[in-house]
Amino acid sequence: MENESIIRVSVFLTIFVVMATLEALLPARKAVLARKERWVGNLSMVVLGAVVSRLLVPASLAGISLWASANNVGLFNMVSANESAVAVFVAVATSVVLFDIIIYWQHRLFHTVPILWKVHKMHHADSHVDTTTGLRFHPIEIVISLAVKAAAVAILGAPVMAIVIFEVALNGFSLFNHANIRIPQKWDDKLSWFIITQRLHRIHHSQAKDESNSNFGFSVSWWDKIFRSFKARASDSDENLLIGQSDVPPTKKNASVLSLLLQPFSKARSVNE
Ligand SMILES: [Zn+2]
Repeated sequence: MENESIIRVSVFLTIFVVMATLEALLPARKAVLARKERWVGNLSMVVLGAVVSRLLVPASLAGISLWASANNVGLFNMVSANESAVAVFVAVATSVVLFDIIIYWQHRLFHTVPILWKVHKMHHADSHVDTTTGLRFHPIEIVISLAVKAAAVAILGAPVMAIVIFEVALNGFSLFNHANIRIPQKWDDKLSWFIITQRLHRIHHSQAKDESNSNFGFSVSWWDKIFRSFKARASDSDENLLIGQSDVPPTKKNASVLSLLLQPFSKARSVNE
């Protein structure tokens, strides 16, 4: 478990530094606000999310997995009596794929259920999309997501290895596909067969509802294709696409830590119409 934290933190820092450097050298779009005006709020959400989930969800996902395996709880613990390499591989691979489908649907529900959208809207209210946007989630969303993942781990009896792989990948992909960089269109179209690129994810951050209700995937683009929410092109170019929320203008005040935390409770238009 100690190794798990070391792996998670080092992968996180490496991808963060690489993405932030690429954004500084070759930015895809210009931000209205200065970097420090958004970054303090966005990065504070990681810390607050971790603190709140520690307080509210006492067991870690790995802890739930170990408990499930010791007590024969969950699908994989019940069906695989043996610990053969093949059985372990199948359990890890299947769990990772199923977690990804669950997170795709969780994200889709955060857009369609009005009370969940109030919480997730804070992520979409960022006036600019860069790698720190990939960390800007309201602590309530972090806790809901953790509870969903905890239930999935217990029901599946998912191995610890699957949790480590999935959490590292989910975090890494979030930093990657929110980065303010642009892959040349030809390569972007090829990569889009497999993964959600930065350009595809910016379509998800568009102010236009038909565009933001697309490209829900965090990693592979397959779920959006299978569940019919994939959008290869936006109505406007990637440079000019209107990003953010029209009722949350790009001001220093709206980017503050307190504003981010209070946003789900504000009176501003919150229906995802
Ligand atoms: Zn979203």
